[in-house]
Amino acid sequence: MPPLLRELLRPRRRTLAVIVTMTLVQMLMSLAAPWPLKVILDNVVGNHPPPQWITWLLPVMGGAGRVHLAEAAGVMTVLIALVAGVAMYVSSYFTESLSQNIGNDLRVRLYHHLQELSLSYYDSTRVGTIMSTLTGDVQTIQGFASTSTLNIFTDAITLFGMIVVMFCLRWDFAIIALAVTPMLAVFVFRVNKIIRVAVREVRTRQSELVSTLQEGLQSIEVVQAFSREDAQERQFREASLGAVYAWLNARRWSSSLAPVVSLAIALCTGLVLWRGALLILTGAMTVGALTVFLAYLAKFFQPVRDLAQMTNTIAQVSVAFERVMAVCDADKTIPERPMPIDPPPFRGEIEFKNVAFGYVPESPVLRDITLSIQPGQMVGVVGPTGSGKSTMASLIPRFRDRDAGLITIDGVDISDYKLHGLRMQIGFVLQDTVLLRGSIRDNISFGRPDATMEEIVNAARMANADEFIVKMPDGYDSLVGDRGLTLSGGQRQRIGIARALIRDNPILILDEPTAALDAQSEDLVIEAMERLMKGRTVITIAHRLSTLRRADKIVVIDDGVVAEDGTHEELLALGGIYAHLHQLQFGKK
Ligand code: ATP
Ligand code: MG
Repeated sequence: MPPLLRELLRPRRRTLAVIVTMTLVQMLMSLAAPWPLKVILDNVVGNHPPPQWITWLLPVMGGAGRVHLAEAAGVMTVLIALVAGVAMYVSSYFTESLSQNIGNDLRVRLYHHLQELSLSYYDSTRVGTIMSTLTGDVQTIQGFASTSTLNIFTDAITLFGMIVVMFCLRWDFAIIALAVTPMLAVFVFRVNKIIRVAVREVRTRQSELVSTLQEGLQSIEVVQAFSREDAQERQFREASLGAVYAWLNARRWSSSLAPVVSLAIALCTGLVLWRGALLILTGAMTVGALTVFLAYLAKFFQPVRDLAQMTNTIAQVSVAFERVMAVCDADKTIPERPMPIDPPPFRGEIEFKNVAFGYVPESPVLRDITLSIQPGQMVGVVGPTGSGKSTMASLIPRFRDRDAGLITIDGVDISDYKLHGLRMQIGFVLQDTVLLRGSIRDNISFGRPDATMEEIVNAARMANADEFIVKMPDGYDSLVGDRGLTLSGGQRQRIGIARALIRDNPILILDEPTAALDAQSEDLVIEAMERLMKGRTVITIAHRLSTLRRADKIVVIDDGVVAEDGTHEELLALGGIYAHLHQLQFGKK
């Protein structure tokens, strides 16, 4: 059993024990079920004396005659069914509870793991695949746990019980019945392998479908803006058809199971009927005994049929399990040192030494970044689009880990700090601010849920966001994000700034904080930020050089290295990239 499965089952041992017991009871009742019929055939209709196990009922029926014996057989049938029914009820409820809990545990576990995976995992994995695993594959495993595991278990016990009973009853017939099973097993095993490959393809296609849907809906605005609905639809239709064909291909094999099994069963039954009739004619066997044996034979083949049918389900579950394990085993987490340092409040000295990083190993984005920032300094980072400015900033809170070199804060390698402690002290305004579902207030206090209303309003004022928030229908309680009202790019950006400001961090990283603002708001925001920057280390990435007018130092990133660095005046005097940019934006020097 895979360790994950064992771990999921361990806390539910008691439920499992109940299920197993009830299943055993059901099996016993199923074994007992044909016996009243034997009594009718052999002891009521025939002339044999009634067996012990039913005679105790006769006084209750009020006599020992054939009629009373028939009544007793009827009552026995109902009693057996009653006990079996109760056992079935209990076992099916407990099984459902077991499967729901396993599904829940699995989902929560996967989600927890997904929260910990580093951004580089998400760079290389489609969201649709993850969603389809968390819903579809977990559902498959859950469904299997609720219906099939119990069935497999019951079937296995029944099968075993039937074999034993049949051997006791007529060993020669039992051998006939058993002769075909190994052949069936080989067939089922072969087909199972093929089905598994096909099912894997099915799931891949299905996740592609989910990914196509998810990505298509996410970019619906662009699609409509460029009138590419047809192309999108075609893509979706292809993905959908792909899933259909893959499914049909899998079905082609799984559909062959039932007919083959039926044929084998008919073969055995025919043999037993033929042999049995001969034996009855010679008086070596009673009609009742043959009937009971045939009933057992049917009961013996039912689980065989079920198990063969289940091949398809088993293939689906093992593929679902593979996919769940693929998420669980993805170890692209940011590794913590065995004894990480709980960082003291940072002074804010940041140093990069020969840092290199690439999203894919073959093409490094940052080749050799060396850079030193003093506590309380404001450093501007400029450079052409795609030169790696955002990437460089994302290495400081360890959203991604550098490939080579060293990054230190206050002289200590950032990898030595506790990840949580490190990130708690770095404020971040991302290049595009994402709002979460909830109120404006929740969005601002997202990084500090215990912030008071006063602090929230204060942060919003400083970020120049208060003015538009108070104009909203519910003010700070207005819902934004998913289902609420949507904000403009500039408004979102200001909420993003407020969100970073409220954390009051010694280190602040601003990735184009004013890119989406008009000139006037930009001025106000810059002013607010400048007020706030005192005593903090601030890294501001900007294309508009006006944002950097107060920077103590400016770093130009180009081609993966620090191309220039120095004060505004020094860089102008240097006459390089910065001077050129400055000339473009402000005209003559
Ligand atoms: P801009 O000024 O446009 O914001 P930037 O300097 O911030 O640009 P980055 O976002 O750091 O640039 O990107 C640097 C390079 O890394 C780009 O060439 C880009 O193609 C690549 N890149 C960025 N993000 C990813 C990602 N998630 N996966 C793979 N490559 C990426
Ligand atoms: Mg960027």
